[in-house]
Amino acid sequence: MFNALVVEKNEEGKTSASVQQMSLEQLPAGDVTVAVEYSTVNYKDGLCIGPGGGLVRNYPHIPGIDFAGTVEASDDPRYKAGDKVVLTGWRVGEAYWGGYSQKARVKADWLVPLPAGLNTRQAMAVGTAGFTAMLAVMALEDHGIKDGPVLVTGAAGGVGSVATAILANLGHKVAAVTGRPETAEYLTSLGATQIVAREELNETVKRPLEGETWGGCVDAVGGEMLARLLGQMQYGASVSAVGLAGGAGLPATVIPFLLRGVNLLGIDSVMQPYANRVRAWERIAKDLPMDKLEAMIVPATLSDLPSLGRDILKGQVKGRVVVDVNA
Ligand code: NDP
Repeated sequence: MFNALVVEKNEEGKTSASVQQMSLEQLPAGDVTVAVEYSTVNYKDGLCIGPGGGLVRNYPHIPGIDFAGTVEASDDPRYKAGDKVVLTGWRVGEAYWGGYSQKARVKADWLVPLPAGLNTRQAMAVGTAGFTAMLAVMALEDHGIKDGPVLVTGAAGGVGSVATAILANLGHKVAAVTGRPETAEYLTSLGATQIVAREELNETVKRPLEGETWGGCVDAVGGEMLARLLGQMQYGASVSAVGLAGGAGLPATVIPFLLRGVNLLGIDSVMQPYANRVRAWERIAKDLPMDKLEAMIVPATLSDLPSLGRDILKGQVKGRVVVDVNA
């Protein structure tokens, strides 16, 4: 028997989440059974744990869109018992049972071997948010980062914290946008050279072009903030659009694309091919300083998850929640 956070739906359609005992026979079919060590709390997890079930496709459901652990049994020649593995994406924790569990059974294709230089706890301190931050930085690099500071929005959140630390470690000046002034010291400790108040960027676009300010941007917020910052990008600079914490609409004009050659790059971490996932994890191990990663960690257990799910939806989590599923 093992413990898992199970989300159930009653006959009235109301969902509830509780830690329950499960058996291996209850796990879905899959090539690889993993003894999970750590998982995390991402925005999507907040939706899946919360009322209404968010993105959950089947009940009862075990959420947790990422995990790291040790292979216990494998029918796939790529993995053997004892191998350390990481999983992000592939709709695990939404359509398939996920990482809020001491055991998980998944398709071998969805796994990546733990990269050298990271342990399972560090890998989940990175988790889906940090993996996505790395993809966003790699996309900016592919299109060329300009000289001006690189803007990171939603900076005190998961994606923003990791993006800030990676970009600063790569030698870029980082302007961190936050709605929480009390996180300024934390963001500076991650390497931000400038703190921008959320209100400064949250106003509706009045002029389609403003001063050419930012050499690149990792945007976790979307909405009016994304629309506004597009007009502040330097000529030919790129924005990696990662999230929609501030809204899914985009009240922008085409002018920044036409007159400034701005690139808007969509980042999707869910369906990344194996080679890209391996490349991103290797870059994380190389370019993310582990002391800064440590400073982002908020430790948690399975029973903390319902309240943490509510907090992340309210934008109140700072850094990365690391769930020790065996604690
Ligand atoms: P977090 O909740 O940890 O961070 C989001 C941050 O955005 C908050 O901490 C807050 O930062 C800021 N924020 C929240 N609400 C608002 C608002 N109304 N207006 C402006 N800023 C706001 O989430 P994650 O970092 O894990 O994820 C960020 C986004 O990226 C989410 O939308 C998520 O779904 C998405 N995502 C996308 C992925 C992909 O594959 N494309 C993968 C992972 C995440 P502060 O307090 O500093 O202002």
